[in-house]
Amino acid sequence: MLFDLLVTGGTVVTADATFAADIGVRDGKIAALLPPSTDSNVQSAPTLDASGCYVLPGAVDGHVHLQMPTGVGYTADDWATGTRAAALGGTTCIIDFVETEPGERLTDALTKRLDEARAAVIDFGLHMTIQPDEHPIAGIPRRVSARRLAEMGEVYQAGCASFKLYMAYPGFQLSDGDLFRALRTVAELNGIACIHAENGDVIEALREAVVDRPERAIHHARTRPPANEHEAVTRALLCAELAGARVMIFHVGCEAAARVIADAKLRGNDRVFGETCPHYLTLTEDTLARDDGRLWVCAPPLRPQADQDAMWRLLASRALDVVGTDHCPFTRAQKDAGKPDFRRAPGGIPGIETRLGLLHEFGVRRGRLTLNDWVRVCCTRPAELYGLAGKGRIAVGYDADLVVFDPALPKTLTADALNSAIDWSAYEGLTCAGWVRDVIARGDLIVRDQGWIGRPGRGQFVRRAFPGNTHAADPTTRFR
Ligand SMILES: [Zn+2]
Repeated sequence: MLFDLLVTGGTVVTADATFAADIGVRDGKIAALLPPSTDSNVQSAPTLDASGCYVLPGAVDGHVHLQMPTGVGYTADDWATGTRAAALGGTTCIIDFVETEPGERLTDALTKRLDEARAAVIDFGLHMTIQPDEHPIAGIPRRVSARRLAEMGEVYQAGCASFKLYMAYPGFQLSDGDLFRALRTVAELNGIACIHAENGDVIEALREAVVDRPERAIHHARTRPPANEHEAVTRALLCAELAGARVMIFHVGCEAAARVIADAKLRGNDRVFGETCPHYLTLTEDTLARDDGRLWVCAPPLRPQADQDAMWRLLASRALDVVGTDHCPFTRAQKDAGKPDFRRAPGGIPGIETRLGLLHEFGVRRGRLTLNDWVRVCCTRPAELYGLAGKGRIAVGYDADLVVFDPALPKTLTADALNSAIDWSAYEGLTCAGWVRDVIARGDLIVRDQGWIGRPGRGQFVRRAFPGNTHAADPTTRFR
Protein backbone atom coordinates (compact mmCIF):
# COMPACT_ATOMS: atom_id res chain seq x y z
CA MET A 1 0.00 0.00 0.00
CA LEU A 2 1.44 3.33 -1.08
CA PHE A 3 -0.36 5.46 1.45
CA ASP A 4 -1.81 5.14 4.93
CA LEU A 5 -4.65 7.44 3.90
CA LEU A 6 -5.80 9.16 0.76
CA VAL A 7 -7.95 12.30 0.87
CA THR A 8 -9.84 12.33 -2.41
CA GLY A 9 -12.03 14.61 -4.48
CA GLY A 10 -11.53 17.82 -2.51
CA THR A 11 -10.58 21.32 -3.57
CA VAL A 12 -7.18 22.00 -2.05
CA VAL A 13 -6.81 25.57 -0.78
CA THR A 14 -3.38 26.91 0.14
CA ALA A 15 -2.13 30.41 0.88
CA ASP A 16 -1.34 30.90 -2.81
CA ALA A 17 -3.49 28.55 -4.88
CA THR A 18 -6.77 26.68 -5.19
CA PHE A 19 -6.81 23.41 -7.17
CA ALA A 20 -8.34 19.95 -7.35
CA ALA A 21 -6.08 17.21 -6.02
CA ASP A 22 -5.98 14.05 -3.98
CA ILE A 23 -3.58 14.01 -1.05
CA GLY A 24 -1.60 10.91 -0.10
CA VAL A 25 -0.57 10.59 3.55
CA ARG A 26 2.17 8.26 4.79
CA ASP A 27 3.90 8.05 8.19
CA GLY A 28 2.20 11.21 9.42
CA LYS A 29 3.45 13.31 6.51
CA ILE A 30 2.04 14.53 3.24
CA ALA A 31 3.58 12.06 0.79
CA ALA A 32 2.02 13.11 -2.51
CA LEU A 33 -0.34 15.50 -4.25
CA LEU A 34 -2.02 13.60 -7.06
CA PRO A 35 -4.32 14.48 -9.94
CA PRO A 36 -7.91 13.74 -8.92
CA SER A 37 -9.45 10.34 -9.79
CA THR A 38 -6.38 8.32 -9.09
CA ASP A 39 -5.57 4.92 -10.51
CA SER A 40 -6.44 1.60 -8.91
CA ASN A 41 -2.94 1.28 -7.52
CA VAL A 42 -3.47 3.94 -4.89
CA GLN A 43 -7.13 3.23 -4.38
CA SER A 44 -6.19 0.32 -2.20
CA ALA A 45 -5.41 2.89 0.53
CA PRO A 46 -8.13 3.85 3.00
CA THR A 47 -9.78 6.95 1.60
CA LEU A 48 -11.52 9.98 2.99
CA ASP A 49 -13.92 11.42 0.45
CA ALA A 50 -13.70 15.21 0.47
CA SER A 51 -15.94 15.84 -2.56
CA GLY A 52 -17.66 19.20 -2.37
CA CYS A 53 -15.30 20.33 0.39
CA TYR A 54 -12.22 22.45 0.75
CA VAL A 55 -9.08 20.75 2.03
CA LEU A 56 -6.92 23.20 4.01
CA PRO A 57 -3.71 22.91 5.98
CA GLY A 58 -4.47 22.34 9.67
CA ALA A 59 -5.00 25.75 11.22
CA VAL A 60 -2.41 27.18 13.60
CA ASP A 61 -3.53 29.34 16.53
CA GLY A 62 -0.57 31.27 17.92
CA HIS A 63 -2.34 32.72 20.94
CA VAL A 64 -4.35 30.73 23.51
CA HIS A 65 -4.56 30.62 27.30
CA LEU A 66 -5.47 27.14 28.58
CA GLN A 67 -5.40 26.30 32.28
CA MET A 68 -3.97 29.70 33.14
CA PRO A 69 -4.05 30.83 36.78
CA THR A 70 -5.93 34.11 37.28
CA GLY A 71 -7.59 36.05 40.10
CA VAL A 72 -10.81 34.06 39.59
CA GLY A 73 -9.18 30.64 39.31
CA TYR A 74 -7.91 28.88 36.21
CA THR A 75 -9.22 29.68 32.74
CA ALA A 76 -12.08 27.27 32.16
CA ASP A 77 -10.47 25.06 29.52
CA ASP A 78 -7.69 22.72 30.55
CA TRP A 79 -5.28 21.19 28.05
CA ALA A 80 -7.68 18.32 27.27
CA THR A 81 -10.91 20.26 26.74
CA GLY A 82 -9.20 23.23 25.11
CA THR A 83 -7.20 21.29 22.55
CA ARG A 84 -10.15 19.03 21.73
CA ALA A 85 -12.31 22.12 21.06
CA ALA A 86 -9.49 23.52 18.91
CA ALA A 87 -9.34 20.32 16.86
CA LEU A 88 -13.11 20.24 16.35
CA GLY A 89 -12.78 23.74 14.90
CA GLY A 90 -9.98 22.76 12.52
CA THR A 91 -6.94 23.87 14.53
CA THR A 92 -4.18 21.26 14.67
CA CYS A 93 -1.50 23.29 16.43
CA ILE A 94 -1.68 25.97 19.14
CA ILE A 95 0.84 28.08 20.99
CA ASP A 96 0.12 28.73 24.67
CA PHE A 97 2.23 30.47 27.32
CA VAL A 98 4.52 29.83 30.25
CA GLU A 99 4.25 32.22 33.19
CA THR A 100 6.58 32.21 36.19
CA GLU A 101 6.11 32.36 39.94
CA PRO A 102 8.25 34.97 41.70
CA GLY A 103 11.80 33.64 41.94
CA GLU A 104 11.15 30.64 39.68
CA ARG A 105 13.65 29.88 36.91
CA LEU A 106 12.30 29.99 33.36
CA THR A 107 13.45 26.42 32.68
CA ASP A 108 11.65 25.16 35.81
CA ALA A 109 8.46 26.96 34.82
CA LEU A 110 8.75 25.42 31.35
CA THR A 111 9.16 21.90 32.76
CA LYS A 112 6.07 22.37 34.93
CA ARG A 113 4.02 23.67 32.02
CA LEU A 114 5.10 20.81 29.74
CA ASP A 115 3.89 18.40 32.40
CA GLU A 116 0.43 20.06 32.50
CA ALA A 117 0.31 20.00 28.72
CA ARG A 118 0.59 16.21 28.53
CA ALA A 119 -3.20 16.08 28.14
CA ALA A 120 -3.02 18.01 24.84
CA VAL A 121 -4.62 16.20 21.90
CA ILE A 122 -3.00 18.39 19.23
CA ASP A 123 0.56 19.63 18.82
CA PHE A 124 1.55 22.76 20.66
CA GLY A 125 4.29 25.27 21.25
CA LEU A 126 4.88 27.60 24.18
CA HIS A 127 5.67 31.32 24.33
CA MET A 128 7.83 32.23 27.36
CA THR A 129 6.50 35.21 29.34
CA ILE A 130 9.14 37.57 30.67
CA GLN A 131 7.94 39.23 33.88
CA PRO A 132 9.75 41.55 36.27
CA ASP A 133 11.52 39.15 38.67
CA GLU A 134 13.76 41.22 40.96
CA HIS A 135 12.75 41.50 44.59
CA PRO A 136 10.87 44.76 45.03
CA ILE A 137 12.72 47.40 46.98
CA ALA A 138 10.59 50.01 48.71
CA GLY A 139 9.57 52.66 46.21
CA ILE A 140 11.49 51.10 43.32
CA PRO A 141 9.46 49.03 40.86
CA ARG A 142 10.52 45.45 40.15
CA ARG A 143 12.86 45.01 37.22
CA VAL A 144 13.86 42.17 34.96
CA SER A 145 17.14 40.81 36.31
CA ALA A 146 20.27 40.15 34.27
CA ARG A 147 19.96 36.51 35.30
CA ARG A 148 16.49 36.40 33.80
CA LEU A 149 17.76 37.76 30.49
CA ALA A 150 20.46 35.07 30.47
CA GLU A 151 17.83 32.39 31.10
CA MET A 152 16.05 33.43 27.90
CA GLY A 153 18.86 31.71 25.98
CA GLU A 154 18.29 28.49 27.92
CA VAL A 155 14.60 28.32 27.08
CA TYR A 156 15.30 29.23 23.46
CA GLN A 157 17.52 26.15 23.32
CA ALA A 158 14.66 24.16 24.84
CA GLY A 159 12.35 25.16 21.98
CA CYS A 160 10.67 28.36 23.17
CA ALA A 161 11.69 30.75 20.39
CA SER A 162 9.10 33.40 21.25
CA PHE A 163 8.77 35.67 24.26
CA LYS A 164 5.68 37.43 25.58
CA LEU A 165 6.25 40.96 26.84
CA TYR A 166 3.53 42.99 28.56
CA MET A 167 3.23 46.78 28.55
CA ALA A 168 0.19 46.68 30.87
CA TYR A 169 -1.12 44.73 33.92
CA PRO A 170 0.44 45.10 37.35
CA GLY A 171 2.84 42.21 37.98
CA PHE A 172 3.45 41.74 34.26
CA GLN A 173 4.07 45.27 32.98
CA LEU A 174 7.65 46.00 31.93
CA SER A 175 9.24 49.43 32.20
CA ASP A 176 10.43 50.86 28.89
CA GLY A 177 13.98 50.03 29.93
CA ASP A 178 13.14 46.41 30.64
CA LEU A 179 11.09 46.18 27.45
CA PHE A 180 14.14 47.34 25.52
CA ARG A 181 16.54 45.01 27.37
CA ALA A 182 14.26 42.03 26.74
CA LEU A 183 13.88 43.00 23.07
CA ARG A 184 17.64 43.26 22.68
CA THR A 185 17.96 39.72 24.05
CA VAL A 186 15.26 38.52 21.67
CA ALA A 187 17.25 40.04 18.80
CA GLU A 188 20.49 38.38 19.93
CA LEU A 189 18.72 35.00 20.11
CA ASN A 190 17.01 35.56 16.75
CA GLY A 191 13.65 34.89 18.38
CA ILE A 192 10.39 36.81 18.17
CA ALA A 193 8.75 38.97 20.83
CA CYS A 194 4.97 38.92 21.16
CA ILE A 195 3.86 42.17 22.72
CA HIS A 196 0.74 43.12 24.64
CA ALA A 197 0.76 46.80 23.67
CA GLU A 198 -1.39 49.02 25.89
CA ASN A 199 -0.15 51.85 28.11
CA GLY A 200 -0.68 50.25 31.54
CA ASP A 201 0.05 53.36 33.61
CA VAL A 202 -2.54 55.45 31.78
CA ILE A 203 -5.10 52.64 31.98
CA GLU A 204 -4.69 52.37 35.76
CA ALA A 205 -5.22 56.14 36.09
CA LEU A 206 -8.31 56.05 33.88
CA ARG A 207 -9.75 53.10 35.82
CA GLU A 208 -9.28 54.94 39.10
CA ALA A 209 -11.29 57.80 37.62
CA VAL A 210 -14.45 55.68 37.24
CA VAL A 211 -16.62 56.65 40.19
CA ASP A 212 -20.10 56.36 38.77
CA ARG A 213 -22.00 53.13 38.01
CA PRO A 214 -19.01 50.76 38.10
CA GLU A 215 -21.30 47.86 37.09
CA ARG A 216 -21.39 49.22 33.51
CA ALA A 217 -18.96 47.18 31.42
CA ILE A 218 -18.84 49.87 28.73
CA HIS A 219 -16.48 51.71 31.09
CA HIS A 220 -13.99 49.02 30.15
CA ALA A 221 -13.80 50.36 26.59
CA ARG A 222 -13.80 53.99 27.74
CA THR A 223 -10.85 53.44 30.08
CA ARG A 224 -8.78 51.72 27.37
CA PRO A 225 -9.27 54.17 24.47
CA PRO A 226 -7.70 53.61 21.02
CA ALA A 227 -5.15 56.39 21.69
CA ASN A 228 -3.79 54.29 24.52
CA GLU A 229 -3.23 51.28 22.23
CA HIS A 230 -1.88 53.55 19.47
CA GLU A 231 0.71 55.05 21.84
CA ALA A 232 1.86 51.68 23.15
CA VAL A 233 2.27 50.14 19.69
CA THR A 234 4.29 53.19 18.62
CA ARG A 235 6.55 52.86 21.68
CA ALA A 236 6.88 49.08 21.25
CA LEU A 237 7.98 49.43 17.63
CA LEU A 238 10.42 52.20 18.50
CA CYS A 239 12.07 49.96 21.10
CA ALA A 240 12.01 46.95 18.75
CA GLU A 241 13.61 48.88 15.89
CA LEU A 242 16.31 50.21 18.19
CA ALA A 243 16.96 46.70 19.52
CA GLY A 244 16.79 45.06 16.09
CA ALA A 245 14.15 42.62 17.31
CA ARG A 246 11.49 40.76 15.40
CA VAL A 247 8.09 41.53 16.93
CA MET A 248 4.47 40.43 16.71
CA ILE A 249 2.02 42.96 18.09
CA PHE A 250 -0.70 40.81 19.61
CA HIS A 251 -4.46 41.41 19.43
CA VAL A 252 -4.63 44.64 17.43
CA GLY A 253 -8.22 45.83 17.49
CA CYS A 254 -8.23 49.47 16.38
CA GLU A 255 -7.28 51.19 13.17
CA ALA A 256 -4.93 53.71 14.80
CA ALA A 257 -2.72 50.93 16.22
CA ALA A 258 -2.82 48.85 13.03
CA ARG A 259 -1.76 51.88 11.00
CA VAL A 260 1.45 52.12 13.05
CA ILE A 261 2.32 48.56 12.00
CA ALA A 262 1.38 49.30 8.38
CA ASP A 263 3.59 52.43 8.41
CA ALA A 264 6.57 50.50 9.82
CA LYS A 265 6.20 47.96 7.01
CA LEU A 266 6.01 50.74 4.43
CA ARG A 267 9.24 52.17 5.83
CA GLY A 268 10.84 48.81 5.03
CA ASN A 269 10.87 47.22 8.47
CA ASP A 270 10.42 43.52 7.67
CA ARG A 271 10.61 42.40 11.32
CA VAL A 272 7.23 43.83 12.37
CA PHE A 273 4.06 41.77 12.35
CA GLY A 274 0.52 42.17 13.61
CA GLU A 275 -2.15 39.82 14.92
CA THR A 276 -5.85 40.53 15.18
CA CYS A 277 -8.50 38.26 16.68
CA PRO A 278 -11.89 36.96 15.51
CA HIS A 279 -13.70 39.06 18.13
CA TYR A 280 -12.33 42.33 16.74
CA LEU A 281 -13.46 41.20 13.28
CA THR A 282 -17.00 40.16 14.24
CA LEU A 283 -18.10 42.01 17.40
CA THR A 284 -18.19 45.65 18.48
CA GLU A 285 -18.12 47.52 21.77
CA ASP A 286 -21.93 47.55 21.65
CA THR A 287 -21.88 44.15 23.38
CA LEU A 288 -20.21 45.81 26.39
CA ALA A 289 -23.25 48.05 26.77
CA ARG A 290 -25.49 45.02 27.45
CA ASP A 291 -26.50 44.16 31.02
CA ASP A 292 -24.22 41.11 30.80
CA GLY A 293 -21.55 43.10 28.96
CA ARG A 294 -18.93 41.88 31.43
CA LEU A 295 -18.86 38.58 29.48
CA TRP A 296 -17.18 40.45 26.60
CA VAL A 297 -14.53 42.18 28.70
CA CYS A 298 -11.18 41.57 27.05
CA ALA A 299 -8.06 43.64 26.48
CA PRO A 300 -7.64 45.60 24.34
CA PRO A 301 -11.41 46.09 24.39
CA LEU A 302 -13.89 45.60 21.57
CA ARG A 303 -14.09 48.72 19.37
CA PRO A 304 -16.68 50.59 17.27
CA GLN A 305 -17.83 49.31 13.85
CA ALA A 306 -15.41 51.58 11.95
CA ASP A 307 -12.45 49.86 13.59
CA GLN A 308 -13.89 46.44 12.81
CA ASP A 309 -14.25 47.42 9.14
CA ALA A 310 -10.65 48.66 9.12
CA MET A 311 -9.35 45.38 10.58
CA TRP A 312 -10.74 43.46 7.59
CA ARG A 313 -9.13 45.86 5.09
CA LEU A 314 -5.79 45.79 6.89
CA LEU A 315 -5.85 42.00 7.10
CA ALA A 316 -6.60 41.62 3.38
CA SER A 317 -3.83 44.12 2.51
CA ARG A 318 -1.32 42.24 4.72
CA ALA A 319 -0.73 45.17 7.05
CA LEU A 320 -1.87 42.62 9.66
CA ASP A 321 -0.42 39.15 9.25
CA VAL A 322 -2.28 36.60 11.34
CA VAL A 323 -5.51 35.89 13.18
CA GLY A 324 -5.02 34.31 16.60
CA THR A 325 -7.87 33.74 19.00
CA ASP A 326 -6.47 34.95 22.34
CA HIS A 327 -8.79 32.19 23.63
CA CYS A 328 -9.19 32.98 27.31
CA PRO A 329 -12.36 31.25 28.51
CA PHE A 330 -14.18 31.98 31.74
CA THR A 331 -17.54 30.63 32.87
CA ARG A 332 -20.46 32.95 33.58
CA ALA A 333 -19.83 32.46 37.30
CA GLN A 334 -16.20 33.55 36.88
CA LYS A 335 -17.23 36.55 34.79
CA ASP A 336 -19.79 37.48 37.46
CA ALA A 337 -16.89 38.72 39.57
CA GLY A 338 -17.37 41.83 37.45
CA LYS A 339 -21.07 42.22 38.28
CA PRO A 340 -20.70 44.93 40.92
CA ASP A 341 -17.64 46.47 39.28
CA PHE A 342 -16.37 45.92 35.74
CA ARG A 343 -12.78 46.21 37.03
CA ARG A 344 -13.10 42.81 38.72
CA ALA A 345 -14.28 40.93 35.62
CA PRO A 346 -11.59 38.57 34.32
CA GLY A 347 -10.58 39.62 30.82
CA GLY A 348 -10.92 37.22 27.94
CA ILE A 349 -13.15 35.91 25.16
CA PRO A 350 -13.41 32.26 24.12
CA GLY A 351 -12.71 31.44 20.48
CA ILE A 352 -10.41 28.44 20.08
CA GLU A 353 -13.04 26.44 18.17
CA THR A 354 -14.72 29.13 16.08
CA ARG A 355 -11.88 30.92 14.26
CA LEU A 356 -11.91 29.08 10.90
CA GLY A 357 -15.70 29.03 10.71
CA LEU A 358 -16.11 32.71 11.62
CA LEU A 359 -13.38 33.83 9.21
CA HIS A 360 -15.04 31.82 6.45
CA GLU A 361 -18.46 33.25 7.24
CA PHE A 362 -17.53 36.90 7.79
CA GLY A 363 -14.39 37.00 5.63
CA VAL A 364 -14.70 34.69 2.63
CA ARG A 365 -18.49 34.63 2.27
CA ARG A 366 -18.80 38.41 2.63
CA GLY A 367 -16.06 39.02 0.08
CA ARG A 368 -13.57 40.57 2.49
CA LEU A 369 -11.00 37.77 2.16
CA THR A 370 -10.24 35.33 -0.63
CA LEU A 371 -10.08 31.62 0.16
CA ASN A 372 -6.29 31.94 -0.03
CA ASP A 373 -6.23 34.93 2.36
CA TRP A 374 -8.24 32.80 4.79
CA VAL A 375 -5.64 30.03 4.71
CA ARG A 376 -2.78 32.53 4.84
CA VAL A 377 -3.92 34.29 8.02
CA CYS A 378 -5.21 31.20 9.87
CA CYS A 379 -2.71 28.52 8.85
CA THR A 380 0.38 29.41 6.84
CA ARG A 381 1.62 32.73 8.22
CA PRO A 382 1.21 31.76 11.89
CA ALA A 383 3.33 28.65 11.27
CA GLU A 384 6.03 30.65 9.45
CA LEU A 385 6.17 33.62 11.79
CA TYR A 386 6.31 31.55 15.00
CA GLY A 387 8.88 29.11 13.62
CA LEU A 388 6.70 25.99 13.43
CA ALA A 389 8.65 23.93 10.92
CA GLY A 390 6.55 21.35 9.08
CA LYS A 391 3.21 23.03 9.84
CA GLY A 392 0.83 25.32 7.95
CA ARG A 393 1.24 24.10 4.37
CA ILE A 394 -0.06 21.41 2.05
CA ALA A 395 3.18 20.30 0.44
CA VAL A 396 5.12 17.05 0.26
CA GLY A 397 7.16 16.48 3.43
CA TYR A 398 5.00 18.68 5.64
CA ASP A 399 3.05 17.22 8.56
CA ALA A 400 -0.20 15.65 7.41
CA ASP A 401 -2.32 18.20 9.29
CA LEU A 402 -5.41 18.62 7.11
CA VAL A 403 -8.89 20.06 7.50
CA VAL A 404 -11.88 19.05 5.42
CA PHE A 405 -14.11 22.12 5.47
CA ASP A 406 -17.61 21.75 4.08
CA PRO A 407 -18.92 25.15 2.88
CA ALA A 408 -22.46 23.74 2.93
CA LEU A 409 -22.47 22.37 6.48
CA PRO A 410 -24.37 24.92 8.57
CA LYS A 411 -23.42 25.34 12.20
CA THR A 412 -25.27 27.37 14.80
CA LEU A 413 -23.00 28.60 17.55
CA THR A 414 -24.35 27.94 21.03
CA ALA A 415 -22.65 26.93 24.26
CA ASP A 416 -24.12 23.43 23.83
CA ALA A 417 -22.98 23.01 20.23
CA LEU A 418 -19.43 24.07 21.05
CA ASN A 419 -16.90 22.10 23.04
CA SER A 420 -15.19 24.63 25.28
CA ALA A 421 -15.82 23.97 29.00
CA ILE A 422 -17.96 27.08 29.44
CA ASP A 423 -21.66 27.80 29.68
CA TRP A 424 -21.96 30.64 27.16
CA SER A 425 -20.82 31.55 23.66
CA ALA A 426 -19.63 34.99 22.58
CA TYR A 427 -21.59 34.35 19.35
CA GLU A 428 -24.74 32.74 20.81
CA GLY A 429 -27.27 31.87 18.11
CA LEU A 430 -25.16 32.92 15.14
CA THR A 431 -25.27 30.52 12.18
CA CYS A 432 -22.28 29.96 9.90
CA ALA A 433 -23.01 28.49 6.46
CA GLY A 434 -20.00 26.18 6.47
CA TRP A 435 -18.01 24.31 9.08
CA VAL A 436 -15.19 21.87 9.72
CA ARG A 437 -16.22 18.30 8.91
CA ASP A 438 -13.07 16.17 9.34
CA VAL A 439 -9.59 16.79 10.74
CA ILE A 440 -6.35 14.88 10.25
CA ALA A 441 -3.40 15.61 12.55
CA ARG A 442 0.02 14.11 11.76
CA GLY A 443 -1.81 11.51 9.71
CA ASP A 444 -4.34 10.56 12.41
CA LEU A 445 -8.01 11.07 11.60
CA ILE A 446 -9.04 12.80 14.86
CA VAL A 447 -12.34 14.42 13.86
CA ARG A 448 -14.86 12.58 11.67
CA ASP A 449 -18.21 14.11 10.69
CA GLN A 450 -17.79 16.77 13.40
CA GLY A 451 -17.17 14.17 16.09
CA TRP A 452 -13.97 13.64 18.09
CA ILE A 453 -12.41 10.20 17.46
CA GLY A 454 -8.78 10.86 18.39
CA ARG A 455 -6.65 9.42 21.17
CA PRO A 456 -6.28 11.32 24.45
CA GLY A 457 -2.95 13.01 25.04
CA ARG A 458 -1.69 12.51 21.46
CA GLY A 459 -0.37 16.09 21.13
CA GLN A 460 3.37 16.74 21.06
CA PHE A 461 5.46 19.74 22.06
CA VAL A 462 6.89 21.37 18.94
CA ARG A 463 10.35 22.80 19.57
CA ARG A 464 10.74 26.00 17.63
CA ALA A 465 13.78 27.88 16.35
CA PHE A 466 14.51 30.32 13.56
CA PRO A 467 17.18 29.20 11.13
CA GLY A 468 20.28 31.38 10.84
CA ASN A 469 20.92 34.30 13.13
CA THR A 470 20.61 36.82 10.31
CA HIS A 471 18.79 39.40 12.40
CA ALA A 472 21.33 39.81 15.20
CA ALA A 473 21.06 43.06 17.10
CA ASP A 474 22.90 46.04 15.73
CA PRO A 475 26.19 46.07 17.67
CA THR A 476 25.86 49.84 18.12
CA THR A 477 23.19 49.12 20.75
CA ARG A 478 26.09 47.84 22.92
CA PHE A 479 28.64 50.30 24.29
CA ARG A 480 32.08 49.06 25.13
ZN1 LIG B 1 -3.55 36.76 25.32
